[in-house]
Amino acid sequence: MNGRLFPGKNLTPDLINRLKEIVGSENVLTDPEKMIDYSHDESAQTEWRCLPEVVVKPVSAQAIASLLKLASENQIPVTPRGGGTGLSGGCIPLYRGIVLSLEKMNKILEIDQVNQMVRLEAGVTLGELIQVAQEAGLAFPPHPGDESAQIGGLIATNAGGSRAVKYGGIRNYVRGLEVVLPSGEIIHLGGKIIKSSSGYNLLHLFIGSEGTLGVITQAIIQLLPAPAFTRSLIIAYEDLEKAMETVPMILQAKIIPLAIEFVEKDVIVITEEYLKKTWPSRIGQIDLLIILEASTEDELDRLSEQVAEVCLNRGGLDVLVAETVSKQQHLLEIRSKIYEAIKPFTVEILDIALPRSEIAAHVRRVKELEREVSLWLPTFGHAGDGNVHTHITKVYRQDNQLIPLPESQWKDKAMKVKKILYEDGLKRGGVLSGEHGIGIIKRAEFMTLAEPAQIEIMKQLKKVFDPKGILNPGKIVN
Ligand SMILES: Cc1cc2nc3c(=O)[nH]c(=O)nc-3n(C[C@H](O)[C@H](O)[C@H](O)COP(=O)(O)OP(=O)(O)OC[C@H]3O[C@@H](n4cnc5c(N)ncnc54)[C@H](O)[C@@H]3O)c2cc1C
Repeated sequence: MNGRLFPGKNLTPDLINRLKEIVGSENVLTDPEKMIDYSHDESAQTEWRCLPEVVVKPVSAQAIASLLKLASENQIPVTPRGGGTGLSGGCIPLYRGIVLSLEKMNKILEIDQVNQMVRLEAGVTLGELIQVAQEAGLAFPPHPGDESAQIGGLIATNAGGSRAVKYGGIRNYVRGLEVVLPSGEIIHLGGKIIKSSSGYNLLHLFIGSEGTLGVITQAIIQLLPAPAFTRSLIIAYEDLEKAMETVPMILQAKIIPLAIEFVEKDVIVITEEYLKKTWPSRIGQIDLLIILEASTEDELDRLSEQVAEVCLNRGGLDVLVAETVSKQQHLLEIRSKIYEAIKPFTVEILDIALPRSEIAAHVRRVKELEREVSLWLPTFGHAGDGNVHTHITKVYRQDNQLIPLPESQWKDKAMKVKKILYEDGLKRGGVLSGEHGIGIIKRAEFMTLAEPAQIEIMKQLKKVFDPKGILNPGKIVN
């Protein structure tokens, strides 16, 4: 919980009083008990956890501007925080200082039906955005997992989720941003526009910048017409590789599902126990969960038949259909709680993104390693967009039992597995993170494995935006 050394001032009582003047004393926390929730995110690792010196909850961009100016002048580290659902330690205040929580900036400012866009503050949650879009008769297609994530955090990590197969990640929906720079300047990027060829694209530079370049305070988000009909299919396979090989074939058959997820049955069983809910498919070792959407029921029937044919021809054992909204939600709930259910065994969740054509071979390597090093490596993820979440655990599996390993053993094995899988992913044309971001957890590997010239440009960019290095220090390349 002790922070690293930062070459600036500590937060003196005088500076804390000035923060209270800027954001209002009711929006400042200094009690360590109350700040514990702000010392971590949802990543499984505990070694990075760090208590801030103060948590502030501003209610306006102007207050954030004054706060950042004060922090810059006094060289105090500031870590922006959204919903704290991140999986790469991005919002952990590694150097203590100020945690800047956007939780009170949670207003929907405008729903523009003509442009089909919503303008909102950065602290609005994903759940709230989905609901607002529905009430407007529209949809926000991406669904990056945890609905308590905030818009600012989703943009700062360029979050993805299962529906990226058809609709892409968050980047595709961000039209405009209001950002406060570390100097205290407020800038407005993009707008209610679809196209822009007006100089360097700073809007897209902030998407995925993980709170290291500026604080996002407002966004303009594109909504789309809601799909008329959706249906979920579960296709059981005995063989993981066969299931993975089917994925590119579905797309080659000119069908673009909303989502193609893959999940092994062993993690489903653990999640069923955790949630006290039942997954409908009981046969095979692995399931593909395929979500289809269409404008008519006839079209949905046709797509379902085509998908079933492709899968059954490639080793699929059985096709189960979830038609009603409640049955589809039931499946999604189990799928989205897998991480929570296996978190107690997890050391680290990998987030490698590969060309779709390489998923089967990469997952084969995971399964070989599982046997070679005797470590349980449950693997699931967004098969349709090539994003594989291998979970490195501290247990091994024998006769369907999970057997704990002593730390001295799992630590070495985990390091080895991580290195081999990152190298395998890169060799296949992949990247280290498809959606969770680099944060602190993948920083060392990113610095070693990314092209040195790219790292250097990123470092220079950071200096341009944040010459004193106060914003989210210790993350990505800083
Ligand atoms: C159960 C579960 C399932 C998940 N599933 C998915 C998934 O399918 N796809 C996916 O992509 N992710 C998934 N995630 C990860 C997580 O939800 C995303 O990374 C999300 O985008 C984080 O948003 P947040 O608001 O919680 O951000 P935080 O965790 O608070 O912060 C994340 C990063 O964003 C920065 N940040 C936050 N707000 C701002 C702001 N206003 N301005 C500038 N920087 C800011 C922080 O400094 C930090 O670097 C999942 C997480 C969980 C726990």
